Amino acid sequence: MSLKSDAAVQSAKTGYDVNRIRKDFPILKQLVHGKPLVYLDNAATTQKPLQVLNALEKYYYTMNANIHRGVHALSQEATEAYESSRIKIKKFINALGKNEIIFTRGTTESINLVAQSYGRKYFNEGDEIIISQMEHHSNIVPWQLICEEKKAKLRVIPIDDTGELVFEEFEKMINEKTKFISVVYASNSLGTVNPVKQIIELAHSFNVPVLLDAAQAVNHLKIDVQELDCDFLAFSGHKLYGPTGIGVLYGKVNHLENMPPYQGGGDMIAKVTFEKTLYNELPYKFEAGTPNIAGTIGLGAAIDYVEKIGLDKIASYENELLDYATQKISELSGLKIIGTAKNKISVLSFVLENVHPHDVGTFLDFEGVAIRTGHHCTQPVMDRYAIPATSRASFGMYNTFEEVDVLVNGLKKILEVFG
Ligand code: PMP
Repeated sequence: MSLKSDAAVQSAKTGYDVNRIRKDFPILKQLVHGKPLVYLDNAATTQKPLQVLNALEKYYYTMNANIHRGVHALSQEATEAYESSRIKIKKFINALGKNEIIFTRGTTESINLVAQSYGRKYFNEGDEIIISQMEHHSNIVPWQLICEEKKAKLRVIPIDDTGELVFEEFEKMINEKTKFISVVYASNSLGTVNPVKQIIELAHSFNVPVLLDAAQAVNHLKIDVQELDCDFLAFSGHKLYGPTGIGVLYGKVNHLENMPPYQGGGDMIAKVTFEKTLYNELPYKFEAGTPNIAGTIGLGAAIDYVEKIGLDKIASYENELLDYATQKISELSGLKIIGTAKNKISVLSFVLENVHPHDVGTFLDFEGVAIRTGHHCTQPVMDRYAIPATSRASFGMYNTFEEVDVLVNGLKKILEVFG
């Protein structure tokens, strides 16, 4: 039996009905250049189901008001909806308390918050901060900024040819100078899922806190922050079928309590005088100004949606898609997969001999296929493999085996034309 028919049997067994799911995503019905849209750019952002769109619309149609300080009915309703999203997220990642859930604009802002707030307070000259060679720029630059300011040193765990971290190098690198570790849970350009539990265990044996960039993990892997024992975890709503402009920083309460505010303004204060300002309690100390209320409510709806289908079912379906796509494109001569780690999320990066990824992306676009080409905000990964860019197909809960076939046929055509 082929991988595809095995998967069909398996999906029937688990009750995963991709056609039913697709009906919830109105955008997928459209044609692009006269061809049915095949959206394979889910690692950049995912599409939004009706349930999320309806939640956004309902908020603006029926309860738009500023939150927290209003005594009137709309403000109370909006506050309740906003705070109920916080509780959903707490449960979704199994945080100990809702005061450990801070709303931000996304992964980028969450990491900057920790780098600026924790780093300003605790980093000193000569300290070492460890990241990895496969980080997204948003988990590199914030640490460079604070390292420059504090004269601390950034150290980088290398990756091997398959795209896995060289753990022994990490073991050699960590020492009494290490003050912080920030690593990606799952890589957006290689697909690698990192052994984060082992990293955290080793880091904690040196008393070093760990931040996980879970931007790509949150919609593929069940996250339990207590089980992982991570100190911080960052993710974006838009990669989890939620709106853009809303994200989360999870932090252990003892860290958050000891960290100074990141931004000042309304809502983050308990009392302001010109002489001294007292800060609000957690999590509000880190939520200055009017937040993305609609986005937060939309993210809550996205989590409800994902949980109703079951993240485990989604993940196993996506793994089947990845296996099928990997097998199919491995059969094409003149194509090389970049990122062949044993444990991967459904991200498939590749390069074609003699064809620039940009041309691959443009050609596929005319076939209705949306993939991403470029460095994927991971330029050091491109340097590691001595390539300027890759083409990347990334699969979400609504993609189908037939869509993988469309991608593969498009690639065959490109290889014929350019090959
Ligand atoms: N880290 C990783 C691994 C990512 O894939 C992304 C988004 N591509 C980010 C961080 C940044 O996320 P955002 O742009 O939503 O802040």
